[in-house]
Amino acid sequence: MSAPEATSSGRMLVISGPSGCGKSTLCKRLLEDDRVEFSISATTRPMREGETDGREYHFLDADRFRERVEAGDFVEWAEVHGNLYGTLRAPLDRAVADGKIFLIEIDVQGALQLKALEVEGLYVFISPPSAEVLRARLEGRATDSQPVIERRLKKAADEMLEAHRYDATILNDNLDRAFAELQGLVGLSNGCPQGEAR
Ligand code: 5GP
Repeated sequence: MSAPEATSSGRMLVISGPSGCGKSTLCKRLLEDDRVEFSISATTRPMREGETDGREYHFLDADRFRERVEAGDFVEWAEVHGNLYGTLRAPLDRAVADGKIFLIEIDVQGALQLKALEVEGLYVFISPPSAEVLRARLEGRATDSQPVIERRLKKAADEMLEAHRYDATILNDNLDRAFAELQGLVGLSNGCPQGEAR
């Protein structure tokens, strides 16, 4: 089966949306396809339980992070919730050259920064169904304190206003439906090497 047009050459895929919109779950599913490679960002935030350096993030101290900023190692970087996060340039260039979809899961600020820098790619905004659902998801995952959750909810409301600046918006009201829409958008619905319609 021939590969769909969109996957015939490497490209960057930016997935973003408010904290708790479900973008991580969608990204995890997309990564079951070996044509997709995950961008591992660098961050100065402390490692959470269950995380491994080099898997979820490259964990750096602030001095080392700043050195890498100075060295021009980042395509973009930003302060998010008081910590620094950045997308590394070298893995992006390598994956695109290898014909892969380089998946960047990033906050809205970072995505819009990439867009402003005219970094070529497909920019997809994941929208939560409602503020209530977003609150329930953030409280349910129990990784953040209540003040952090309140801060993220306020930020989410602002971020929703930026959705129109993306190439596409996917409403994550139902995970399977949202995933199917994402697959179609990226051009991975057909010829998936690990099976169809997961
Ligand atoms: P967390 O610490 O919960 O993993 O992520 C916090 C926020 O940082 C999320 O909204 C996430 O999308 C964002 N983030 C992760 N990596 C990057 C990055 O490389 N650049 C930017 N600008 N934001 C990032």
